[in-house]
Amino acid sequence: MAKFNSVRLDPDKCMGCINCIKRCPTQAIRVRERKAYIISDFCIDCGECIRICPHHAKLPVYDPLSVMANYEYTVALPAPTLYAQFNNLEDTDIVLNALLKVGFDDVYEVSAGAEIVSEVSRKYIVSHPEGRPFISTACPSVVRLVRVRFPNLIEHLLPISSPMDVAAIFARRRAMEKTGLPADKIGIIFISPCPAKMTSVKAPIGIGRSEVDAVVAIKEIYPMLLPLMSDSKENQDIADSGKIGISWSKSGGEASGLLNDNYLAADGIENVIQVLDDLEDEKISQLDFIELNACPGGCVGGTLTVENPYVARAKINHLRKYMPVSKGHDTSDTNAIFIDREIDYLPVFRIGEDMKDSIQKMAAIDALQKRFPGLDCGACGAPTCRALAEDVIMGRADENDCIHLLKGYISKLSKQYQ
Ligand code: SF4
Ligand code: SF4
Repeated sequence: MAKFNSVRLDPDKCMGCINCIKRCPTQAIRVRERKAYIISDFCIDCGECIRICPHHAKLPVYDPLSVMANYEYTVALPAPTLYAQFNNLEDTDIVLNALLKVGFDDVYEVSAGAEIVSEVSRKYIVSHPEGRPFISTACPSVVRLVRVRFPNLIEHLLPISSPMDVAAIFARRRAMEKTGLPADKIGIIFISPCPAKMTSVKAPIGIGRSEVDAVVAIKEIYPMLLPLMSDSKENQDIADSGKIGISWSKSGGEASGLLNDNYLAADGIENVIQVLDDLEDEKISQLDFIELNACPGGCVGGTLTVENPYVARAKINHLRKYMPVSKGHDTSDTNAIFIDREIDYLPVFRIGEDMKDSIQKMAAIDALQKRFPGLDCGACGAPTCRALAEDVIMGRADENDCIHLLKGYISKLSKQYQ
């Protein structure tokens, strides 16, 4: 599988302040020579470092809107979170028609894909009691986290594609039927609340390839949509989803679409980790479904949005009042809806080649850690003394990166030469 991360560093802006190394949930960041860098294998694209960096040195990766020019026919795939960015919105068609005015030839709502996923998930959970509790696979960062840190929980991942990928398949089919164009002349462009979706398009898990061709940020398209939004009689009737679909934008929305109260919904990467720890310890195994979102508040908390996640939630609640529960969708094409690749464990945190090597390295790490002061000060550029010890034994750092150890070494040297 291709390796890709949707966060990059602007080295000119990075001050080496170490704020990000402390916040990364997988200890993927180090600071060397006053610049942060990401150990790509460890990164799950959660976006926490983008949120926390006081100097805006961590940047999300996404495509420019000009990518539309690469295709003869383009279909916008707006995430349900897009609707949560606008004040007093009562009709999603106002946003969908503004997307056409921006230059897209067609629009396929991801909330329609979400309603398909909700319906199929509902049936799947009822007919597979042995796999419960199922963990949602909609948040790419959560799937990546489970894959690298919770291998025992992989079997609980719901084997259903994300609403984005399901919507992309149906959008391309519809565009090909309408236009007669070959697939490669049609651009399926997702309008995203978070950069992790870019990773799931470039390096998908559970499917061979994503039908999404490009990922554009909500915050890029938002200012272009605003002047084009009007409740005009000319507006086409495009909206094809209801409350269930748009509610996926906020934490608890996916779970409520299952029409089953025996669920848990958690958001924010630290809370997600706590829930997965509890599930691994079999404290919450009686549940049917666990919805986890890495971003605070759910997708409305993504780093590519413009609205405060709590305000965005309120706006979705307001919009829901004007909508049907859901629209009818054809859910018979299971090939388009279920994942078709096994999700396997990615042992990026394994320290040895085999058991013997791992035990030896672990012993060396324990011994070295004891020589460090245990302050977890971050001055060495690693998040904890333990992480520095691991870095040294794995050949990624030098023990004298610890300023306390270095001070002792220098003072010993100077005594020798007195
Ligand atoms: S938080 Fe990280 S990326 Fe931002 S300036 Fe500090 S060290 Fe650099
Ligand atoms: S995106 Fe998340 S996992 Fe990746 S480096 Fe930043 S904080 Fe760590």
